[in-house]
Amino acid sequence: MRRIGVLTSGGDSPGMNSAVRAVVRTAIHNGLEVVGIERGYAGLIHREFRDMNLSSVADIVQRGGTILKTARSQEFMTPEGRGQAASNLKNLDIDGLVVIGGDGSFRGARALATEHGVATVGIPGTIDNDIPCTDYTIGFDTCLNTVLDAINKIRDTATSHERTFIIEVMGRRTGYIALEAGVAGGAESILIPEVPFRLDEVVERLMRGHMRGKLHSIIIVAEGAGNVLDIGKYLQDKTGFETRVTILGHIQRGGSPTAFDRVLAARMGAKAVDVMMAGETRKVIGITAGEIKAYDIDYALSQHKTIDLDLYKLANILSI
Ligand code: ADP
Repeated sequence: MRRIGVLTSGGDSPGMNSAVRAVVRTAIHNGLEVVGIERGYAGLIHREFRDMNLSSVADIVQRGGTILKTARSQEFMTPEGRGQAASNLKNLDIDGLVVIGGDGSFRGARALATEHGVATVGIPGTIDNDIPCTDYTIGFDTCLNTVLDAINKIRDTATSHERTFIIEVMGRRTGYIALEAGVAGGAESILIPEVPFRLDEVVERLMRGHMRGKLHSIIIVAEGAGNVLDIGKYLQDKTGFETRVTILGHIQRGGSPTAFDRVLAARMGAKAVDVMMAGETRKVIGITAGEIKAYDIDYALSQHKTIDLDLYKLANILSI
């Protein structure tokens, strides 16, 4: 192993820059050369390469987003696209590729390894925390804190106006962001795709809270759990309480990464380089019980991460 490539792919997340920095600097520390690939797999196909040195990654540890840019690539979904990508890597004498992204990006890395023998290691970078074999993905913690800040601010206005607020958060088909931000923000109800719910139960909770003298309520809805506008209308019609809907959207993807995400990214980036140098391939990096480990990519992609149902139950107890 003499020369490796690094790219960020799929949805961006805060802390990806910290991971790129860790990959570049630990690789150089170990005598490797590093090529940065811009715009994910799209840039890999269209040869958007740049040589990385120690100063290429200076002053980025605190920045959200990714200096390498990210993209989704339909072309890479085709065998021809991946063939072009592999031949570009070969022409540049790149022996291994570190892919920072979500599970789609990991599937791409696996295809490149299977079809063309490229050594690949994945690092989980997504705000959604929906990747198996890791307790945390890079960007999740920063996203939670952004959502929490929004909940706090919305609660101020909700209290003043005695309103019900429905807040939609990201998470694709999962409720990790909704659940943890909801618990941390003291939400009255949390609706996630993993747990079936009846809106009439939410109505009952709202009414009970009102009887106890509660002047406002915050309901967190994961984007995969249902249409927030319909939910808001239903709750307003049934309770008679003035209800407002806020969709947080892409602010959840931005911002300076938290200390947690930066340290996680540093450790995962360094581990990815270790794995490459040991001649291993078809791996993804994860953190479980505080330990950074490398997992087989087939195993990781065959697993299904499950939400912490005990935390969900606790949320219901605490918000009663
Ligand atoms: P994320 O990595 O955040 O889950 P996507 O699912 O959009 O984001 O995947 C990012 C990119 O990875 C896609 O645009 C595509 O180029 C590539 N990719 C995703 N799934 C596959 C697959 N099954 N085979 C090959 N490439 C894939």
